[in-house]
Amino acid sequence: MRKVMSNMNMNWMILALLAVTMTAVAQQPASAPQNPQPVAATQPEQTAAQTNLGPPTTMDQAVDRVIMREKELIKFLSLRTPIVETYLQNLIQDPQLGPIPQDDHYFLGRMDLRDSIDRADYLNNKGKGKDEGMERHLLGEFTKKFKFQYQPLGFSWMIFVDRNDFDRQHYEFHYARREFLGDVRCLVFDLTPKKDAGHGRFLGRIWVEDQNFNIVRLNGTYARPTRNNYYFHMDSWRLNLIPGYWVPSYIYSEEGDFTAGAKNKIAFKAQTRMWGYNLKATTANDELTNIRVDSVKDNTPTEQDATPLAAEREWQQQAEDNVIERLEKAGLVAPEGDVDKILQTVVNNLEITNNIELPRPVRTRVLTTSPLETFSVGNTIVVSRGLIDVLPDEGSLAMVLSHELAHIVLGHNLGSQYAFNDRMLFSDEATYQNLGFKHIPEEEVAADKKAIEMLKASPYAQKLDSAGLFIKALQARAPQLSALLQAHLGNNITENGTVTRMAQLGTSAPALDWNKLDQIAALPLGGRVKLNPWDDKVEIVKAQPVAITSARDKMPFEVTPFFPRLSRYSTASAPATTAAAPTTTATTANADASSTPTN
Ligand SMILES: [Zn+2]
Repeated sequence: MRKVMSNMNMNWMILALLAVTMTAVAQQPASAPQNPQPVAATQPEQTAAQTNLGPPTTMDQAVDRVIMREKELIKFLSLRTPIVETYLQNLIQDPQLGPIPQDDHYFLGRMDLRDSIDRADYLNNKGKGKDEGMERHLLGEFTKKFKFQYQPLGFSWMIFVDRNDFDRQHYEFHYARREFLGDVRCLVFDLTPKKDAGHGRFLGRIWVEDQNFNIVRLNGTYARPTRNNYYFHMDSWRLNLIPGYWVPSYIYSEEGDFTAGAKNKIAFKAQTRMWGYNLKATTANDELTNIRVDSVKDNTPTEQDATPLAAEREWQQQAEDNVIERLEKAGLVAPEGDVDKILQTVVNNLEITNNIELPRPVRTRVLTTSPLETFSVGNTIVVSRGLIDVLPDEGSLAMVLSHELAHIVLGHNLGSQYAFNDRMLFSDEATYQNLGFKHIPEEEVAADKKAIEMLKASPYAQKLDSAGLFIKALQARAPQLSALLQAHLGNNITENGTVTRMAQLGTSAPALDWNKLDQIAALPLGGRVKLNPWDDKVEIVKAQPVAITSARDKMPFEVTPFFPRLSRYSTASAPATTAAAPTTTATTANADASSTPTN
C-alpha cells in the first residue's frame, strides 16, 4: 500500500508564496478610499443593496464600479477559508488518442484569504522531510528547469485579478465587447499592466456582469515572470451563489504544444475547484439539519434497557453519526441530498433482490473530493464525487456500491472507536490523519466475492459487461493515475498500478476498444456531479449528451476545461432542499455519451 503522497509544510508554502506571487506586489497601505461603506461580511443581502448606486453612464464609471466590486469581494472573502483542490495530469502524445495522461498530481488544502492567500494542507504526510515537499512532489523531474512550476498555490493565483493593486494606476482597461456567458450578459475588458507596474500583474481578459459589475470570469496569465519563474495560463470562473457576490469556483489551467516539431518542456492540464466557503458559518444550522428522521433510535419498547447486541448497534451508529457529521463539518462530505437518493435506490435494488434485511437502513453520502474512493462506516456508504463522475452507467455504480454493501452485510464494521467524542476533536486539516477506514486484505477479498454474488442476483446482472469494461479502462490508465487512485480514507482500488477491487468483473468483460465509438467504458472527471462551492451540496449535472465523434473524445478519467452555465442568483435557482426524488434511471439518463464533462 502506498503512503499518502503529498507532503507540504506551511512555512515552505508561505515562503514560496512570498517568492512567487508577492514579489512585485508591495504591501500597499489602505490608500484611496476604496470602500466608502465597509461591507458586513456576513450579510451579503445588505451589501447588494448598498452597491446599488444606479447605472454608470460612461465606460470609465463602469470600470470604477468593477474595481470597487472586486475590492468588496476581497474583503467579503477575507474571513473565509475555502477548501481548494487541484488535480493535475501531465500529458504525453498518443498517436491514436492524442494527449493522454502520463502521470498525475493531487493537492487538497484550505485557503486562508485573510491578508495574503495562504494554504494549509490536508494531505500532510509523516516521515518525509521538509525538503521533499509539495514542490518536489508536484514538480517531479522538471523541478530544476522551472522553479515553482507546479506549485499548487500557483493554481489559485487567479482567484482575484490582483489582490492588492487592482486599480487604474497599475492597469489599462480596454473595453472589447458585450457577450453572454450562459444567461448572464457581460461586458468584456482586456487588461494590460502599465509599463512600470512590475512583475506578476494580470494580463488577459475579464468578463463583468452588467448589473452590479462583478467580475464573473478571468482568462489569461500574469505578466513578466522573474527569471526561473513561470506563470501558467488560467481560466477562472465565479458563480453567483449568494446575493451580491460572485464566488471564485473553478480554475482551469493548461500548458503544452503538441504540434509537429514542438518541444514541450511542460504539458499538462489541471482543474482547481474551490468549495466550503460557508464552512465556518454552518455550525448553528447543523444542529437542526443533522437530526435524522431515519436514525433508528428505538425498535424496542421505551422502558427497556438495550440488550448487549442492541447496545453494540447503538454504539456503531453513534460512531457512524460522529464520523459523518465531522466530515461534513470539514467540507469533505456533502450534506444529504439528491445524489444520495440515486445511490440509495441502487443500494435498495441490491438489497431487495438479495433478500437482505438489516437492522438499520443503509445510507449513502458523497465525499466531495476527486480521488476515486469509497468506504463505509457503520451503515453509511461513502463514495467520492470523482468516482461517481467517471462511472459510465448504473451497472458500474451498482458494482461500486455492492462492494461496500457487502462489507456491511458481512459485518465488517470499522470505526467503532469514533463513538468516543474526543476522537472527533481535531482540526479540519488533520482529518486524514485522524480518520481512516481501511479493511484488512481478507475482508477486501470477502467483500468482492459477496458483492459479485449480490450483483449476479440483482437487476444489474445483465449490466455487468459495462462494469467490467470500466474495470478494464481503469486498468489501462491506472499506472499513469496514481494520484487519482490514491484513497485517503478507504482502501485503494488499485495496488501498484493494478486494479484489485472487483477485478474479476474485468476478466469476463468484452475487449476494450478505444475506436469503438459506442463503447464508453469510463467518463472524464466532472461530468456527473456538481458541487456547490458555497454550501457544499451536490447535485447531478443536467447536461445534454454530446455525440462522440472520435476516440479522442472519450477522455476517460481525464480533466477538461470548465464551462459552467452562468446564471444570476435567485431564490428559485438556489439549491432546493426538497427536490423531487430522482428515479433509478437518473444516472443512466445522461450516461451514454456525456463526453462533455462540465455543463
Ligand atoms: Zn472494501
